[in-house]
Amino acid sequence: RPLTPIDFLTRSLEQHPDRPAVAWREHRWSYAEFGAIVARMAGWLRDQGIGPGDVVSVMLSNRPEMLAAHFAAPAIGAVLNTLNTRLAPDDLHYIVTHAGARIVLCEPGAAGALDGSGIAGAELCREPGAGEGLDFFSGPVPPLDIRMPASETQAIALNYTSGTTGRPKGVVLTHRGATMNALGNVLALGLTRISSYLWTLPMFHCNGWCHTWAVTAAGGMHVCLDKVEPAPILDLIARHEVSHMCCAPVVLYMILDHGGPAAAHPVLVVTGGAAPTPTLLEGMEARGFELIHAYGMTECYGPSTFNDPGPAAPGSVEERAAGLSRQGLRHLTVGGVRVVGEDGRDVPADGESIGEITMSGNTVMAGYYRDPEASEAVFSGGALHSGDLAVMHADGQIEIRDRMKDVIISGGENISSLEVETVLHRHPEVLLAAVVAAPDPKWGETPCAFVEIRSGSALDATGLEAFCKEHLTGFKRPRRFVFGVLPRTATGKIQKFALRQRARDEAS
Ligand code: ATP
Ligand code: MG
Repeated sequence: RPLTPIDFLTRSLEQHPDRPAVAWREHRWSYAEFGAIVARMAGWLRDQGIGPGDVVSVMLSNRPEMLAAHFAAPAIGAVLNTLNTRLAPDDLHYIVTHAGARIVLCEPGAAGALDGSGIAGAELCREPGAGEGLDFFSGPVPPLDIRMPASETQAIALNYTSGTTGRPKGVVLTHRGATMNALGNVLALGLTRISSYLWTLPMFHCNGWCHTWAVTAAGGMHVCLDKVEPAPILDLIARHEVSHMCCAPVVLYMILDHGGPAAAHPVLVVTGGAAPTPTLLEGMEARGFELIHAYGMTECYGPSTFNDPGPAAPGSVEERAAGLSRQGLRHLTVGGVRVVGEDGRDVPADGESIGEITMSGNTVMAGYYRDPEASEAVFSGGALHSGDLAVMHADGQIEIRDRMKDVIISGGENISSLEVETVLHRHPEVLLAAVVAAPDPKWGETPCAFVEIRSGSALDATGLEAFCKEHLTGFKRPRRFVFGVLPRTATGKIQKFALRQRARDEAS
């Protein structure tokens, strides 16, 4: 029979039932205890009439039940749909309806968000054993009657893209793809049963769920966190001897800005979703963190490439921040990561010719759910087209230049928003910058920069203009600087579409 991520759990249950599986708040659960939570949840779902092929949605923060759902739903043959806990009602209703969810497991007090969607929410207890709402921490443990997938191409999950560039799209993930992806991640991150993995990224996002199965496959411990803030992060690192952590770059900026003591032991940090800046790499390394830069997308089960970790990796800090290694994972779980031109051929590896990143292989989705048009648009020549522009270097490093949708076209010249942002990020007082197109009567579009500065800094537009004059060609320099906190998605991505709207509003 085909292998499934559920096998990872049963293996750990047999091999080391007493080792810790999950830590959350003041509690720690062993694999045996976690297995019981999974079995209770699977039994409960079955009692609700959920069976093979039914979609089970979860709108949960990183807590043991969220992790348990990754095993309980597929164990009875159901399809897991993880929902962003911060979705606006419109998007939430769109996704649960589009996915055809049968039930939504949600946080205490959160079921009301589903009112009007026609789909029922089932609320969990606030605390383990609290006895109000659904409590999977206590009660009799039914046998975990696993319905193994009839075929390896059976869906294990139906997850939606972040909606950074438009409406979220449903991605169908199979048992085979999830298994391959987890094993690839175990190897790339060096996860073992003594690994302690701190979750600062939400498990509902592709950078998250890809590690739910991986950490369990290795038999390691998941450390959950309620509030993504520097102080509790540093506290948990010490308390649970965290060896691995996943983090959006924005959270790393927060840790850097927070100061405080460095980690007492090495921590491997996987960061992705957006490129880290040189300042970030350098600052984190100085504090004992090793950064792994990951690139991926929901359509490819999360990360498709991982870089070698920090200090040992060759190249300058700028190169390391910009580059993505083609090595490692791609052979195992993806198959082919390429940068191709409009003619579908590989661009020359000259570090200059821009093409689109394409991926093919084991952990690339078969298509979008109930959206043949979008599916057709994204595949060509048998490969998935990412919509991300990049150049290929002679040493095989891929450097992302921009999302196709974020390129600014000014007087017929293409400006990479990322290139301008990279320059701004080199300014020591800039914490985060996002550059978008603002409409311009003469040039069509011009770059407009939104900037978040370090606390206590008095940097202003004049200062940044002078800085850009030194480092950027004339037409690439932002014509306008707007200071303030940047809007982010729940996964820490800057919402450029919102900034583009603001730039449009301010121009008119
Ligand atoms: P949508 O497709 O709905 O607009 P999204 O593309 O943000 O949203 P995800 O699947 O969560 O949804 O994100 C994948 C995208 O994130 C990639 O296509 C790429 O643009 C960006 N990305 C991921 N990793 C990196 C990275 N290391 N550096 C730069 N960009 C990255
Ligand atoms: Mg996308």
